[in-house]
Amino acid sequence: MTSNTEQIFTYLDTAADSGDQLYLEQLITACRDWAEGRTAPDSNGTVTKEEIRRGLQLAILKGMRQNVQPNHQMTPDAIGMLIARIAALLVSEKEEVQVADLAAGTGNLLFTVMNHLGRLSSATAVEIDDVLARLMAVSADLLEQEVRIFVQDALRPLLLDPADLAVCDLPVGYYPDDENGMNFEMMPAEGHAYAHHLFIEQTLQHLKPGAHGIFLVPSGLFESAQSGNLHTFLKNHTIIRAVLQLPGTLFKNAAQSKSILILQKPSGDKAPIPDVLLAAVPDMTDKQAMVSFFANMEQWAAE
Ligand code: SAM
Repeated sequence: MTSNTEQIFTYLDTAADSGDQLYLEQLITACRDWAEGRTAPDSNGTVTKEEIRRGLQLAILKGMRQNVQPNHQMTPDAIGMLIARIAALLVSEKEEVQVADLAAGTGNLLFTVMNHLGRLSSATAVEIDDVLARLMAVSADLLEQEVRIFVQDALRPLLLDPADLAVCDLPVGYYPDDENGMNFEMMPAEGHAYAHHLFIEQTLQHLKPGAHGIFLVPSGLFESAQSGNLHTFLKNHTIIRAVLQLPGTLFKNAAQSKSILILQKPSGDKAPIPDVLLAAVPDMTDKQAMVSFFANMEQWAAE
């Protein structure tokens, strides 16, 4: 029997591939028609939010091969699921969670986290690319997730309520707007700032005291030419909770490898600062190794 995810993908793919506009534009129309009840894919019984997200993700991946820059790619599912499980540990005591993602793209990472939290959550998402933001908006409707979407440069002033949790697959590279960059502590004295540094700073600005930010970062983050600014900023404004090296098998080559950086915004109380967890995530297909990794993460989250 064909799975619900496959049926959803086939339905969206057929609609997105049939006209003469760009695939992603037609995909947005197909999602809108489905969300508004004009058409719907076949399914075997009840369809879960994760089945919808995965079916959509397959179609978006196909559309992205046409015309999306490498730096705008969706967060891969294996990494999204890992971040979602860690996020759930960090907000386990909250009944309601307000999540933020300042570089939300298609929303795939954000929706993976929201679907996984399994409790009342709402989100604020920022994305500069209009097509990706519209894809995110129709996906939110289909997944029945409450998301406020801002289509703008996330490094400009943002009118957001402080969040309980932030996730962000950071856009990596130089930020070209030096004048705006001057509003950030991590703007270097000479040359352009790193966008990924400024995104960390901006995200921290929009977290509640005590809240965590989970960032997907280049593994060489702490060895770059501008890492001195980053070290100073992190020391003065955050608690570094963990740096988790992702398995090399997830990336095409070592230069593209990524890590998960987990920061906490200080809450101002006098609680002792926990040690930084430095760990390597095991091969995610090794079930036993993942069970013991998450047993350690549970203890760590409770610290
Ligand atoms: N997590 C996303 C997902 O699952 O689709 C992927 C994020 S992708 C690695 C980084 C995103 O940051 C891209 O969608 C890009 O358009 C966006 N971006 C880059 N610079 C930005 C800026 N200054 N303001 C807002 N978004 C920006």
